[in-house]
Amino acid sequence: MADAVNALPFFYGNITREEAEEYLRQAGTSNGLYLLRQSRNYLGGFALSVLHSGRCYHYTIERQPNDTYAIVGGKSHRSPVDVIDYHAQEMDGLVCLLKKPCNRPKNMQPKVGPFEDLKEKLIREYVKQTWNLQGAALEQAIISQRPQLEKLISTTAHEKMPWFHGSITREGCEPRLQNGSRTNGKFLIRQRDLNGSYALCLLHEGQVMHYRIDRDGSGKLSIPDGKKFDTLWQLVEHYSYKPDGLLRVLTVPCPRPDGDAGGIINKLRTVPIPGLKKVLMCQSLKCVMVISPSEAMPMDTEVYESPYADPDELRSSTVDRSQLFLEDGELGSGNFGTVMKGIYKMRKTEKPVAVKILKNDDNLQSITDEMLREANVMQQLDNPYIVRMIGICEAESLMLVMELAELGPLHKFLQKHKQTTVKNITELVHQVSMGMKYLEEHNFVHRDLAARNVLLVTQHYAKISDFGLSKAVAEEQNYYKAKGHGKWPVKWYAPECINYFKFSSKSDVWSFGVLMWEAFSYGQKPYKGMKGNDVMQMIESGSRMDAPLNCPPEMYDLMNTCWTYKLDERPGFSVVEPRLREYYYDISQ
Ligand code: AMP
Repeated sequence: MADAVNALPFFYGNITREEAEEYLRQAGTSNGLYLLRQSRNYLGGFALSVLHSGRCYHYTIERQPNDTYAIVGGKSHRSPVDVIDYHAQEMDGLVCLLKKPCNRPKNMQPKVGPFEDLKEKLIREYVKQTWNLQGAALEQAIISQRPQLEKLISTTAHEKMPWFHGSITREGCEPRLQNGSRTNGKFLIRQRDLNGSYALCLLHEGQVMHYRIDRDGSGKLSIPDGKKFDTLWQLVEHYSYKPDGLLRVLTVPCPRPDGDAGGIINKLRTVPIPGLKKVLMCQSLKCVMVISPSEAMPMDTEVYESPYADPDELRSSTVDRSQLFLEDGELGSGNFGTVMKGIYKMRKTEKPVAVKILKNDDNLQSITDEMLREANVMQQLDNPYIVRMIGICEAESLMLVMELAELGPLHKFLQKHKQTTVKNITELVHQVSMGMKYLEEHNFVHRDLAARNVLLVTQHYAKISDFGLSKAVAEEQNYYKAKGHGKWPVKWYAPECINYFKFSSKSDVWSFGVLMWEAFSYGQKPYKGMKGNDVMQMIESGSRMDAPLNCPPEMYDLMNTCWTYKLDERPGFSVVEPRLREYYYDISQ
């Protein structure tokens, strides 16, 4: 949404109400002249300024919890642009119809708020310190969890600000304001209690004034009878440009005596709980933010980074049987045996693992070779969105020890959890596209990409599995030529796989389109009731599957792009992943 709105010629970004009035007046006197700007008090919201009979009227467009937009109390729409289109036809409470956009002056870009600049730095620092990540792991965490991280940073960023003095008393804050320069408007914010109430303390003619900041039932912050804000930094920004009921505007932040700018990072400690790597403990709020597994981010789990990312752990492709403890009960079964849950005791930690155990079969040699081939591919891959191999264990049977993705295959999960939101599904398929982009960059083709081979660690964390058919391909040739037709998942295969036995990352993209279809249809079988031959004919004739019920058009459009017949015209994952990313960010803001 942000990018789409940024591109609108009548969107001015983070300008004040007064600046909006100035632009409108400069543009003329006609009734219904309007512009759009970013809300300075509601996260993700907008404000509409309209000229009528020589006066300016301002309306807040709130972003609602179900990702729709509405002028407070008005009809909901899918985007702020839809709100404007609607009010071009219907007054519905507005002072007049929206007649003419007031476009930005030439060469003026939408104004970026002061927090936008800070945000990027804060997110990076937060991820680095909270999860101790760096390099590719850090970048991937930011890409896949940006909407959640932005929200977290937006609501805790005040702890980074020099004017935020934490939990000090009224008496304690007065000398801080009186010491040093005694500029009128010098201010600080202190925390009053644990219910999210604060106080704004302001120096005025040598005296300290204290204003309560209360939090209402919906979490909005305000000085009694004052404007409401989502965050403290928005409140400070507002009162820094106009007093709006205070004795004067805020001028200079009162520095903290320790010079420590902030708490979010220093004051977040982590405590371990089973299954999750850590729980954030926010000392400054003296509370533990317990992350339930369903809302945990991938980085909160034990399988975000390779166990061997820790230099104290011995990197080895073999697992010592005496360190491996199998538990009762199967996780599943496949071609070459059963998959059991287990614990692998490493030097420093104990890892929950999934163990693929080879069955004693008549074809022992051929399935052993097959499993070793799979292990060989997996050993070369290290990405948060791919199930990693921990090692091979040769004991009573040959065993492949892997990271555990306890919630099992994606299609089964969605069949059982029909209430899963479109946003959640988009988050998961985006993660799959990130894992596939990594495979593409490393010249591996998966050849069996399907919802059954995407395993869930949590409801918000997917990993690609089953590398039984995968191949490394030469960089220059970039495809694998199969020797003949095997037991193939034809419904997931691109035409060139079936017609010419030719497999590439582009054919994985075709399969990814089918996987998306499975995900957005909550785990239904693709081409239901059809035989492989009928599917091939359908594809050759130019037909494709219909959109799943309630599938967002943007996502169906992407599936169809993945099902581009000609290999050269079909995009790679380097194109598919950013498209999914953009849509995911849009609906999660
Ligand atoms: P596969 O033989 O790889 O198709 O695995 C068969 C089934 O075992 C899968 O459908 C999953 O239900 C389960 N499984 C395989 N690998 C894992 C894993 N790493 N974590 C959890 N369950 C797994």
